[in-house]
Amino acid sequence: MTLQIPFDNSYARLPERLFTRQAPVPVAAPGWIAFTRASRASWASTPMPCRTDEGLQVFAGNALPEGSTPIAQLYAGHQFGGWNPQLGDGRQVLLGEVVDPLGMRHDVALKGSGRTPYSRMGDGRAWLGPVIREYIMSEAMHALGVPTTRALAAVSTGEEVIRETALPGAILTRVAQSHIRVGTFQVLAARGDQDGLRALADHTMVRHYPTAGSVPELLAQMVARQAELIAQWMSIGFIHGVMNTDNCSVAGETIDYGPCAFMDDYHPGRVFSSIDAHGRYAYGAQPQVALWNIAQFATALVPLMPDQQRAVDDFTAIINRFADLYQSAWLTRFGAKLGLADPCPEDRGLIEALLTAMTEGGVDFTNGFRALAEDAPERGGAGPDWIAAWRARGPDLEIAAAANPVVVPRLHRIEAVIAAAVAGNFAPMHEMFAVVTRPYDPEPSLMDGYIMPPEGHEKVDKTFCGT
Ligand code: AMP
Ligand code: MG
Ligand code: MG
Repeated sequence: MTLQIPFDNSYARLPERLFTRQAPVPVAAPGWIAFTRASRASWASTPMPCRTDEGLQVFAGNALPEGSTPIAQLYAGHQFGGWNPQLGDGRQVLLGEVVDPLGMRHDVALKGSGRTPYSRMGDGRAWLGPVIREYIMSEAMHALGVPTTRALAAVSTGEEVIRETALPGAILTRVAQSHIRVGTFQVLAARGDQDGLRALADHTMVRHYPTAGSVPELLAQMVARQAELIAQWMSIGFIHGVMNTDNCSVAGETIDYGPCAFMDDYHPGRVFSSIDAHGRYAYGAQPQVALWNIAQFATALVPLMPDQQRAVDDFTAIINRFADLYQSAWLTRFGAKLGLADPCPEDRGLIEALLTAMTEGGVDFTNGFRALAEDAPERGGAGPDWIAAWRARGPDLEIAAAANPVVVPRLHRIEAVIAAAVAGNFAPMHEMFAVVTRPYDPEPSLMDGYIMPPEGHEKVDKTFCGT
């Protein structure tokens, strides 16, 4: 290949037992679905595979860019609370890390690129639906200002993938700060692999926590990032859907968009995932689950400490800071949604009263909050007393406008886009992408259809895993 990408692949220099060298499995007939322009990218002026015939072959896994060291990464994880001692990239290959001019590394990975030694019973592939969902959701999340993995390209494979029925195959090219998960640490701790754990912790600090300098400080900074991340999810009505420890990025990005969704009518108990029967990952449960995941991360770090009994006490104290950090991030985010630059603890009651009114009135989360920015609080479900109290706080509507998106990628629209794409029409996908990647100032001629919550018959209350 002549494509010159400045790959470095530092992960492939870690102990070999952390991964398997694995090339993507070629596909029959690659075709373009989508490509993200460099102007939207956070990898600055770094060369990446691009929208050329050569790029298409790379994104399909039919050709390797020069310098790439493709690997499948090992990890484990707690899935719905149950321990799974071995997972790993069952349908993903990491091509390598691109280093940008600022020295930041960006993982470039193909998702749906064929079987690996970690595939278990799976076929290593993805179908068009989940690829489109992750493409739109992750790029919309980025546009909303939420730390997230990115989508660089989506291509069709020209092959069928068999699920309940035969579906068109596709591959997503994902760009991430890294794919190091809580489960990556867990697998080494569970195996009693001290050296591996040490190497991974050092690698993680160099790459994501350069100011940490020690394992307790790594944990403390990771806790802070998770608190911020979850507060951001909550503030836009985002439900991840599968917050297993293998889907929790140590770098603090949103990762692994499976049965995720934005809420329409607000309810703290809202669940979309078809596999989440008990609501473990409901909207309102997300802070608790994040804390639980952090506790698993801390547990995996304990073997690195010289005095393990003391480490348990120290780590417990660090983890216990999550509640305050999260509450304060939540207050800042929701305060801004009310137009308050500097919310004080007493404002918590005002925010919660609105959320209660929204629950009782079945008010649409996105539109209800946006109404505040448009000085129409009655549309947010608030009564006269609330409105009077809110006005008395002197809300700044520009602050509210910057914190309350006009549009989010609603589930029923995503499903409609996927259905059209399966039928061969990709125009709705491109339109939706254009609208939801400008969430605060969508193209006026297009936005109406994205503002409307689903009508009764359009409602989608379940979303399925991406497998
Ligand atoms: P997820 O719930 O998508 O995060 O996936 C959980 C685990 O299952 C990960 O280790 C995936 O790599 C693996 N997996 C999911 N789908 C497939 C598939 N079609 N083939 C092989 N492995 C898969
Ligand atoms: Mg190996
Ligand atoms: Mg996953």
